[in-house]
Amino acid sequence: MATMTADFINDAALHHALEQNTNPDAKRIRDIIAKARSIQTLTLDETATLLNVTDPALWNEMSIAGGEIKKSVYDNRIVTFAPLYMSNKCVNNCSYCGFRTSNSATVRRQLTLEEIKNETAVLAGTIGHKRLVVVYGEHPDSNVSYIADTIKTIYDIKVQACKGIGRIRRVNVNAAPMSVDDLKILKETGLGTFQVFQETYHHETYKKVHTSGKKADYGWRLSAMHRAMEAGVDDVGLGVLFGLYDWRFEVLGLVAHARELERAFGIGPHTISFPRLEPAANTPFNENLKYKVSDEDFKKLITVIRLSVPYTGMIVTARENAAIRRDVIALGCTQTDASSRIGIGAYSDRYNEQEAKRQQFLLGDTRSLDELVRELSDRGYITSFCTAGYRCGRTGACIMDLLRTGAEGKFCKLNAVLTFREWLDDFASPETKAAGEVVLQKELNEIKVKLPKVYPTVKEYYDRICTGERDLYV
Ligand code: SAM
Ligand code: SF4
Repeated sequence: MATMTADFINDAALHHALEQNTNPDAKRIRDIIAKARSIQTLTLDETATLLNVTDPALWNEMSIAGGEIKKSVYDNRIVTFAPLYMSNKCVNNCSYCGFRTSNSATVRRQLTLEEIKNETAVLAGTIGHKRLVVVYGEHPDSNVSYIADTIKTIYDIKVQACKGIGRIRRVNVNAAPMSVDDLKILKETGLGTFQVFQETYHHETYKKVHTSGKKADYGWRLSAMHRAMEAGVDDVGLGVLFGLYDWRFEVLGLVAHARELERAFGIGPHTISFPRLEPAANTPFNENLKYKVSDEDFKKLITVIRLSVPYTGMIVTARENAAIRRDVIALGCTQTDASSRIGIGAYSDRYNEQEAKRQQFLLGDTRSLDELVRELSDRGYITSFCTAGYRCGRTGACIMDLLRTGAEGKFCKLNAVLTFREWLDDFASPETKAAGEVVLQKELNEIKVKLPKVYPTVKEYYDRICTGERDLYV
């Protein structure tokens, strides 16, 4: 039976932490940075102290440390994915969302399983994605059995792509909070990360923007990840919709949530997301926002999250424009999307332009995966298409330990090299292939020096992939 979860967000305590930890001196900040470097989650007071830094030189030290922490945990890997919107039918009335039930301007649509096959064929067979995040409004038509069927349909699709088979190997889910029983059904599908964003941790603001429907229940949403863990779904993603309330308070809320999951289950969030509110069709709420987050503050909040929850994956999406994405990847983000379309059916439908009435909001960066991979390669990152870790059972508590000790970075690097080689051969344009091969050569040289024992195996697999074998991993 599901246990009741107490409301662990105390607004007054979060405000108090922000008020008490002002004017930090450099020594205190450096001590906190040192703690973050040892991959320990920061306390609320430590996080509030970082949030209160005013000296630009200290912010600079913090952002450099954030980038280095990301490298020590994840190395130079960037994971890519695509969003796949399944349904925009929704019974809730979130003031900021184009899908809200009262928005008559939105054209409603829910994908059939046949349409999902077509969408997946484009994503896996033409573009070359290996990971998706599937997104659903909250509606009786998109209940857990629909969600489970859609995930199974995606995993079943295999498309011939050059020398290999294009297929989606990891389906992350962004959906409404569920009961333990429903989450157990989802667990059976082999889902990846289960994401539910709290939107705002500030109780009063939460109430103001969620006026009706099940989403109006703050506690049901706050306890979503406790129920997920109880159901055995131990890969969970937290998030805040920045722009609803004070960003400093929200960062504290995220850290409080991460600490609570660690306390209760010994497992923190696999990922944290930090979308900023975007304009949506017929949604005046999103204009003239009091708490709109500037680009400068956006970078600061990413730096503080990176330091406060040092082991977590951090997702920046194509809501942000290319320049911002470039900057925040350097600050420690680990995952991003590309070739993204967020209209329902938009990958296989014929229309190409972004269409506000079909979408939840408009994207800031519509570059293709090929273009993104080329840019990442030019900047020395390796795009990881690897999902071997999950297939080998490295999830939940197991992956937490590996991340904290830096071991996951090493495992993943080897498989990242192998899967990147596959991807370049199967999907890349000639220019991207050339840029990617420079990265691969550098990585192989590094493995040869740093991991001489495994190098022969990796090189053998690498050569076999070059001659057409696929799906080899260590
Ligand atoms: N319906 C589910 C829910 O609300 O949790 C999942 C799907 S909802 C479309 C996914 C996320 O989109 C929300 O959690 C919210 O953070 C984000 N979102 C909603 N409106 C947005 C907007 N105008 N700009 C940016 N993100 C938005
Ligand atoms: Fe529905 Fe989610 Fe949009 Fe709210 S954010 S209206 S619950 S789709």
